[in-house]
Amino acid sequence: MESAGKVTKFVFVTGGVSSSLGKGLTASSLGRLLKSRGLKVTMCKLDPYLNVDPGTMNPGEHGEVFVTDDGGETDLDLGHYERFIDESLSKMSNTTTGSIYSNVIAKERRGDYLGKTVQVIPHITDEIKERIRRLGALGADVVIVEIGGTVGDIEIVPFIESIRQYRRDAGRDNVCYVHLTLVPYLAPSGEQKTKPTQHSVTELRSRGIQPDAIVCRSDQPISDGLKRKISLLCDVPIEAVISCVDAPSIYDIPINLLDEGLDAIVLRTLGIDVADHPIDLSAWQEVVRRVNGTSTTLRVGVVGKYVTMPDAYLSVNEAIRHAGYAVGAKTTVEWLEAERVPSEIDADRLRRLDAIIVPGGFGERGFEGMVAAARIARENDIPYLGICLGMQVMVVEFARHQLGMTDAHSTEISLTTSAPVIALMAEQMDIADLGGTMRLGAYPAMLDEGSVVAGLYGSTVVSERHRHRYEFNSRYRAQFEEAGMRCSGTSPDGRLVEFVEVPEHSYFVGTQAHPEFKSRPDRPHPLFLGLITAALARAEGREPHILNPASVDLSL
Ligand code: GLN
Repeated sequence: MESAGKVTKFVFVTGGVSSSLGKGLTASSLGRLLKSRGLKVTMCKLDPYLNVDPGTMNPGEHGEVFVTDDGGETDLDLGHYERFIDESLSKMSNTTTGSIYSNVIAKERRGDYLGKTVQVIPHITDEIKERIRRLGALGADVVIVEIGGTVGDIEIVPFIESIRQYRRDAGRDNVCYVHLTLVPYLAPSGEQKTKPTQHSVTELRSRGIQPDAIVCRSDQPISDGLKRKISLLCDVPIEAVISCVDAPSIYDIPINLLDEGLDAIVLRTLGIDVADHPIDLSAWQEVVRRVNGTSTTLRVGVVGKYVTMPDAYLSVNEAIRHAGYAVGAKTTVEWLEAERVPSEIDADRLRRLDAIIVPGGFGERGFEGMVAAARIARENDIPYLGICLGMQVMVVEFARHQLGMTDAHSTEISLTTSAPVIALMAEQMDIADLGGTMRLGAYPAMLDEGSVVAGLYGSTVVSERHRHRYEFNSRYRAQFEEAGMRCSGTSPDGRLVEFVEVPEHSYFVGTQAHPEFKSRPDRPHPLFLGLITAALARAEGREPHILNPASVDLSL
């Protein structure tokens, strides 16, 4: 595909045999390898479901909704993409069947198809290809496109047909197909089995796609004999059969795939000379060295509503780890169901934690448990980070127990409260639709000079991503400030409170934003770093007030 004189290449990643094989992580790892070879990489996910975007989906079922700078509510795989290739993506990087159909139907209603019968082929497939093409026109050398779902699913067929056509449209040398399969080990026969891979490749070929590389997921390395068998039966060169064994950490995967030569095969298929693009993976290797070199273990409690599905807080989990890597601490997360606090998960249990996070969330269920957790953190000086709902919770808690407003609440939960310390934002008042209507995406904030957060960021102007409808009710601001909760960051016009903190506490910080989305394995987010630094100081019995992340050596 020509764009400003240069050819953009496309890699399509499909999956077979089973879901949850780690297609997103494989695609992300490949992205990291290509970027480490000096190529400009962007990524995209095609999701087969009918929701226009995942914004309206229950995180307890579907996992986290990842928010992009431009306010896209996207699949959690975009989080992996951003963390691995270290590029901020846009909403263009996630397309669903629902968004494709709604566009095509809107065009049909406008009469754009000039009386034609509107069909899956070519109209839906053209729309899918157009989305991929548009991404390719943004100037990347390589666009990696992950197809959600599993080959053989009914709903995936238009995507598979579109990427088949794409090689014809873009040119043979400009497209590479990578297929991910499972090679299970059957204990009774003591063997790894290739049959599921053969079936899945047969299914893909029946749709007209011959894979250029097959990545075999397994719990033990694939022997050369088995690779030969897969090579023979699936018609790929032996070096294009890649063994991808379960890794100790997700950050090991790029290194493993490099050893197996996946990036070299992809580049060869795309007609790019590997010798022209020597790899420098030293920064990533340093990350992996840190990941494996942690000693002290810190226990971080995450008190939330969807904790039975930890993927619901995927970016929070990763951000905790990144901060741990930076200070040399291994972090373990205890997922604590808010509804069970404090009745079953009591104050003693929370007091044994090194830090507490209340993450984002919606609705009434578990809210009181989160308030109880925030109170226990504040009263026992346990480092606490409140994210979005978690900030609102700490505001409600402070109002009830420090300001004596026993009835204080968020109007998301109580419309009759006499102290609506968290209230619906003015611009949200007349909105009825739920999809895509929150305050979404990156907004700037101004931080108070001398505040904990300004110290952590090393700046008084920051930008963070948002996804909410409710806000701190500025009417109460003076009362909070007098009682010791500082509104340490606001929107540039001063209207919206974006950060709060209790300075006399070792670390009691809340933000209306979602800092977890911007954390990187080699660049932890300042607010998580502040939390983990405070937790480490506390665990080591040091003075918890010494919060000086600037002293943490982050140089790679
Ligand atoms: N439910 C709250 C709001 O809409 C918090 C949202 C969130 O945590 N993402 O404001």
